[in-house]
Amino acid sequence: MMKFHVLTLFPEMIKQGLSPSIIGKAAEKNIIAINPVNIRDYTQERHGKVDDTPYGGGAGMLIQAQPVYDAHRAVSGGRKLRTVYVTPQGRPFDQSLAKELAKEEELILLCGHYEGIDERVLEEVVTDYVSIGDYVLTGGELAAMVIIDAVARLIPGVLGNETSAQEESFHNDLLEYPQYSRPEVWKGKSVPKVLLSGNHREINKWRLEQSRERTERVRPDLYERYEARQQLIKRLSKDKRNNIHIMECLARGHGEILYAKGEDIAVYNRDSSTCMLKAASPESGRMLLKYCPDETRWHVVSQAFMKTLLLEQGCQEFCECRQFLYTQREPLPVQHKDIRRLGLESLEYICAHYDMETPEYIRDRLLAGVIYGAFVDQHLVGFIGMHDEGSLGLLYVEKPYRGRGIATSLEAYTVNRMLERGWIPYGHVIVGNETSVRLQEKLGFYQAKDTFWWIEKQ
Ligand code: SAM
Repeated sequence: MMKFHVLTLFPEMIKQGLSPSIIGKAAEKNIIAINPVNIRDYTQERHGKVDDTPYGGGAGMLIQAQPVYDAHRAVSGGRKLRTVYVTPQGRPFDQSLAKELAKEEELILLCGHYEGIDERVLEEVVTDYVSIGDYVLTGGELAAMVIIDAVARLIPGVLGNETSAQEESFHNDLLEYPQYSRPEVWKGKSVPKVLLSGNHREINKWRLEQSRERTERVRPDLYERYEARQQLIKRLSKDKRNNIHIMECLARGHGEILYAKGEDIAVYNRDSSTCMLKAASPESGRMLLKYCPDETRWHVVSQAFMKTLLLEQGCQEFCECRQFLYTQREPLPVQHKDIRRLGLESLEYICAHYDMETPEYIRDRLLAGVIYGAFVDQHLVGFIGMHDEGSLGLLYVEKPYRGRGIATSLEAYTVNRMLERGWIPYGHVIVGNETSVRLQEKLGFYQAKDTFWWIEKQ
């Protein structure tokens, strides 16, 4: 559960502003918690005073350091929690910052009022200065609510529909395509014919064209980034089998290009804190590592010298894998009929049978709606899922049920879900797992030549 603490002089504004709608429902379901904290409750001044005039003169009043500091201490209990001061002087808030903040378990938002807050307490407690736009509001509450709304809806389980947050504006640096609902004709204007065709490939093509056209016209800055990604995907596609993990990360809108010149490529997947690297030489490899963000947790490399470099830096090898990809567009037949998307009720079962991942990670994947289970006589007997960096994985079938084609069906089912989203399914199989290799080959997956290492940053 992600917790938002809001330090404010107007806690009612936060309560009332966020309690209706989807965000309020998510709080009711304990997927998020919103904790408005009244700064005034912490003042040591009589009569609840929290503000005073600025030294050196000037208009207005300032919130004093002491009540803000004590309110912050009360919430953090001395822990180093990420603390955002909302201010017109901050880093502009955008979707990528929303994604970054959505990874925190607890976040403190500090709202100013009057002319702002005494600089000394800001220096003491604030980790991030964030602005919601180039205009000045009377107080930080609306800004804090904007941030909470945008961050909360990215948390798995907050939006009912698992795909809706992935397909809208700013996903992949494209603005969303135009949308239409009933009636088919309104004021003489008809819904574009292709949307009534039922042909999903054509519909997706039309939507992508519309998104591109709209973004290029309205937001050329975003379009430039989108185009840079498309160019890199094209370059990488010359060696698709070895590069599919980077290509798919970019194509699905999760990849940020950190560096891409010639043979030197560094792409970061924020969702999984993973850096995917390819270098022309050990020297340029060393240079690429400097581009990896501090919060990087994983490196994925396929060159032995990159692995050596990372181990020299104190990272640890997690596993050596082979990459498999499914390049056909046709869905696969699924023999086992009772396969369903799993929810949190299956967390215990999965954790009991799969120890390669932590319970927190499995919970996150369940909330994202990307773990599927096979049932026999209403009993869960196996599962499969999609990893946060986009690959297929988490496959398990109970021993007594093996050899019945259940694993094949689970994987085929997941491949079909990925194809529906326009993705190229791929997976990483740990070297030595020949059973899994046979399964991939049986389903028509191709194997990449290179082996890959997942290296964990300590
Ligand atoms: N004197 C301050 C300045 O020039 O930077 C502006 C103070 S403003 C009147 C009062 C409070 O509203 C700020 O402390 C901040 O918390 C909030 N605020 C105003 N505009 C904002 C914006 N564009 N983004 C985020 N917070 C804002």
